[in-house]
Order: sequence, then structure tokens, then C-alpha cells
Amino acid sequence: AKARVVVVGGGYGGTIVAKYIRMADPSIEVTLIEKNAEFISCPLSNEVLSGERDLKSLTFNYKGLEGHGVKVIIAEVTAIDPVKKSVTAGGQEVPYDKLVVSPGVDFKWEAIEGYSAELAESKITHAWKAGAQTTLLRKQVEGMKDGGTVIITAPPDPFRCPPGPYERAAQIASYLKEHNPKSKVIILDDKAGFSKQGLFTQGWQMHYGDMIEWVSGEQGGKISAVNPDAMTVTGELEDFTGDVINIIPPQKAGAIAFAAGLTDESGWCPVDQRTFESTLHKDVYVIGDSSVAGKMPKSGYAANSQGKVCAAAIVTSVNGQPVPEPSYVNTCYSVIAPGHGISVAAVYRLEGGQIVPVPDSGGISPLGASERDRELEAEYAYSWLKNITADMFG
Ligand code: FAD
Repeated sequence: AKARVVVVGGGYGGTIVAKYIRMADPSIEVTLIEKNAEFISCPLSNEVLSGERDLKSLTFNYKGLEGHGVKVIIAEVTAIDPVKKSVTAGGQEVPYDKLVVSPGVDFKWEAIEGYSAELAESKITHAWKAGAQTTLLRKQVEGMKDGGTVIITAPPDPFRCPPGPYERAAQIASYLKEHNPKSKVIILDDKAGFSKQGLFTQGWQMHYGDMIEWVSGEQGGKISAVNPDAMTVTGELEDFTGDVINIIPPQKAGAIAFAAGLTDESGWCPVDQRTFESTLHKDVYVIGDSSVAGKMPKSGYAANSQGKVCAAAIVTSVNGQPVPEPSYVNTCYSVIAPGHGISVAAVYRLEGGQIVPVPDSGGISPLGASERDRELEAEYAYSWLKNITADMFG
């Protein structure tokens, strides 16, 4: 083989970089190492909470990637040696010439007193990695007493999927409106504002009246502790009691990025934003949520776009060619109610080493969109999922 590329993490970023390197240059040997045999998509997983879809519709395997000649190893990567240029996975050592790391996010458990990985699995979910916790949160919402309260806490920036907590509130309200109409959804936010705020506020009002209440950081929405027995969270001004509590904790790069020394004091991975090569370790690239990618949000579509830019940088580097001028793209759809979608989109370019939006290249859905346009945007959200997962797993 011309070169050996190893990819850690088979999600929105990792699958794409693996496949696109193989498509561009089949003489490069690509090995993808992923800890789970099946991948469950976070995008559209909020719809599991309303009952609009099940997790099965979001579950994928790696057979398609093997069809592109990617060697897939199902194992957890526990160590990376950037000097020896090898990774350790399931007891074996896998050597590389180039390594790409796309492990997603990890949580700052210590930021919320009383919270832990164990508690998230048993009672106070985060459901910020789709799977068993998504199902548990759905069951909790279904089983909630009449007129009960669901609390969702939203983290400080930067975090995975900036519109996600607000789409989640809408999807939970969509179920409750039908089955428990006197209940409430309270969002306790660390921040002073959030993504697509005007569009969300309008959509919440339109479909759910006063069911959804948003408390900003300044109004006491910042929380510091959770008590799972009393079912309370501690705010700066008062405590809040919920019948269901969903805590989306503050975030940082995936654990393996810390273990490999790829993070800086920000808790994320600094990279050369033209190639996604780490500025801390040569021949190691970081894409997706874990990377610091200028003005791009931490989204699945951003990870996809970064995977393609990174693949081009690696293929040209291995072949001794100049690195092409990158272009990046992102769109995030949110579904507020059946037949009501909204979006934010942008094209990005490199300027002074930073990824920045191209002026007038995108924007958000208009507040005054027609009913038909809102319906179309919900359809686009579903076709986006179909296309991007075909790109990853097909
Ligand atoms: P991931 O896709 O999470 O992939 C990381 C992979 O690495 C995982 O499969 C993991 O198992 C694996 N891994 C981690 N560590 C190791 C290890 N040590 N060894 C082996 N494998 C490892 N984005 C959008 O664009 N549109 C949306 O509509 C959208 N909706 C969302 C809704 C919700 C509720 C949430 C939580 C997120 C949403 N996102 C959305 C964001 C999107 O899910 C992430 O930004 C995206 O998954 C990031 O891709 P990634 O490759 O960085 O991480």
C-alpha cells in the first residue's frame, strides 16, 4: 500500500473521511476503528421523544464501508502513540502513517454537583448520545403524572448541536400536547440566547402555547447541582423541581483526544483549519465535534464537510501534491412539530487560517415563511437524514 490511514470513530466525521480517501485513492489502506458494531444517529433522535420515529430508523452498520474497501475493526481505542505512530485497540496495536480522530464529545460531569455517568443511565438522562438514554427519556415522558413538569437544562457554548435542546423541548411538547396537555416543559439555559431563537419561540407559541418556558442564564437558568432523590436542580436564584429531568451537561472533546494529548486548555483540539491536522501532533488529524473549526458549529453536517476536506488534504499529502483550497458547508434542520421545519445554513471558507462564513452565503428560515414552506423544510430535514446517512454508510 502507498500509505496506511487509521480512523478512530465511525460517526458523522469518521465514516466520511474513511470512505472519501478510498474513493479518491484506492491504493491507500484505510482502517476504521469504532467501539460499537452499530451506529445510532443523534440527528432526528429528538423525534423518538415525540413518538414520531423509533431508534431503529436511526441505526446503521458498517457493511457499506467494507464495500468501499475500508477495513473495519470493532474495538475501543484506548491509547494513541504519536511517536511510534500506532494506536491500541482491543489489545492489538495498529500502525499508521496518518491518523484521523473523530470521537465526538465527552461530558464535564464535575460541572454539575451530583451528576454522573451512572445517574445519566439510570434516572437523569442526558440523551446527548442517541441510544438507551433516548428510550429511557421517552418512557419517562410517557409515564409522567398528569400536569407534570419536564426540565431540560441547556449547556454553555460550545456544545454539540446548538439548536438541539430547543428542538427537544418542542418534540417533547408535541407528545404532551396530545397526552398530557396540562403539563409543562421548562428549559433552564446557561446562556443569554440560543440558535434560531426567534424561529423557535414563534414555533413553540404556534403549536404549544405556553407549554414551553425558557429561562435564560441571567434569569436564573444556570444550574450547579442536581438532587435525584428530591428531583430538583439548583439554580442561581432558586431550585427547580421536575417530574422528569434531562440534563445536557457542559461538553469537551471525546476522551481519547485527551488521552492522546490532542486537547489544549479549552478542552477541545486545535487544528490547522485547512487540513484538520493537529497543531500538537504531526500526522494526526482531528475532525468533527472534538476539533476547533473556526466558526463552524458542532454538527453532523459540519463533521461530514470536515471529513471531505480532511480526506482531500491527506490524499494530496500522501501523493506529494499541493493541498487544495477548502470550502466547507453546514445546514442544521430542526423539526418543531409535524410539518413544521426550520433551518440555518452557511458556506464557509478559510481566511487568515480561520474558517469563517462566506458573506450572504446562507441564513435562517424567514420568520414569515408560509405553511407550505414550513412543510417543505420538514421534508428537507428527512431527506437530509436519508442523504447524509447514505453518504456515511452506503
Ligand atoms: P459522532 O458522530 O458522535 O461519532 C463519534 C464516534 O466515535 C462514535 O460512533 C463513537 O462510538 C466513536 N468513538 C468515540 N471514542 C472512541 C474510541 N476511543 N474508540 C473507538 N470508537 C470511539 N447534527 C446535524 O448536522 N443535524 C442535526 O439535525 C443534528 N441533530 C442532533 C440532535 C441531537 C439530539 C444531538 C445530540 C446531536 C445532533 N446533531 C445534529 C449533532 C451531531 O450528532 C454531531 O455533531 C455529530 O455526530 C458529530 O460527529 P463526530 O464524528 O464528531 O461524532
